[in-house]
Amino acid sequence: MSNKRDYYEILGVGRSADNGEIKKAYRKLAIKFHPDKNPDDPSAGEKFREATQAYEGLKDSQKRTQYDQVGHMDQGAGFGGAGGYGGGFNVDLNDALESFLRNFGMGGMGGGFGDVFGGGGSAGRNRGRSLQLELSISLLEAAKGAKKTVKLNKQVPCTDCDGSGAAAGSHPVTCSQCRGQGRVRQVRQSLLGQMMTEGVCPQCQGQGSVVENPCSSCRGSGTIRGEETLTIKVPAGVSSGNYMELKGKGDAGQAGAPAGDLRVVFEVQDDELFQRHGDDLLIDVPLSPVDLMLGTKVQVPTLEGKVSLKVPAGTQSHKIFRMRNKGIPHVNRPGSGDQLVRVLAWTPDKLDKEMKKKLEELREALADRIPAPGRHLYD
Ligand SMILES: [Zn+2]
Ligand SMILES: [Zn+2]
Repeated sequence: MSNKRDYYEILGVGRSADNGEIKKAYRKLAIKFHPDKNPDDPSAGEKFREATQAYEGLKDSQKRTQYDQVGHMDQGAGFGGAGGYGGGFNVDLNDALESFLRNFGMGGMGGGFGDVFGGGGSAGRNRGRSLQLELSISLLEAAKGAKKTVKLNKQVPCTDCDGSGAAAGSHPVTCSQCRGQGRVRQVRQSLLGQMMTEGVCPQCQGQGSVVENPCSSCRGSGTIRGEETLTIKVPAGVSSGNYMELKGKGDAGQAGAPAGDLRVVFEVQDDELFQRHGDDLLIDVPLSPVDLMLGTKVQVPTLEGKVSLKVPAGTQSHKIFRMRNKGIPHVNRPGSGDQLVRVLAWTPDKLDKEMKKKLEELREALADRIPAPGRHLYD
């Protein structure tokens, strides 16, 4: 395999770059070379793919260490064997696009939620619970981005004991069993002789301190039920099911342990004017058959106010006109969707004598010009 460039070189970072620098460098390249942004440049896709491969190879510290020690390996012998990207040689453009979304996207819902939270307990028994909040926003807010203020009912630090769990005038004392270490060693007898095991201290649950005289308001837990007002910055372009993780905004942790996280799941309301299709918006515009026949100009509502649309003479009902970049901004890449304008023939249900007379003449004139019935006549 000859044409392998060094991952650091591809990303334009030094060998000592930290994870943040690597991520930043990759993000910049990925946005610059994203195929959607470079529809006319086929080499951009390859650069995008290459950058993604380099990032996948370096973002995980274990893979990075291996890469630093061994460098590129021949196909099939990839480090880490079958695990994920392994040596990273088989990252194709689709993998790269998916990986980019995973790293920077808002994440689709797909219902796979429970796992994330279920697994959160490993950080320690007293860590605050992670919470989920459904945030309903209008289509306009989703399109423009918004700041929303919400009141969240959750566990907050107890004000009487400042979250320590110890009654006024007293303090948590160093745990006698682990002497403040939070972990204890135990000697167990096994068939193989004595075994030394280490684990979380059962007396203080790893906190290193215990409350001997608990605060009566929170019964020693250090947290109480309360309310927090949060301002949530909604990024422009979100769809229903997109979510954001706010670190440390979940329930407060017991007696000084870390708080849980808050997941904000966006729910975009239906709009009266626009129907959303991905990042495109569809709006129906009724016109009289005469307007469709003779052509007209029509004012069409868009997210940015009314825009004039020219409907040429001889336009069929249900024709869709596309207004470029007038849709919703893409949430994790540059650019926007389009606005689709569907013109529909509108017919009056009541006609006076005079109108009827004119239309009868028109009917006569058009009678033998109408196409025979068939499939997809105006596609
Ligand atoms: Zn202890
Ligand atoms: Zn308290």
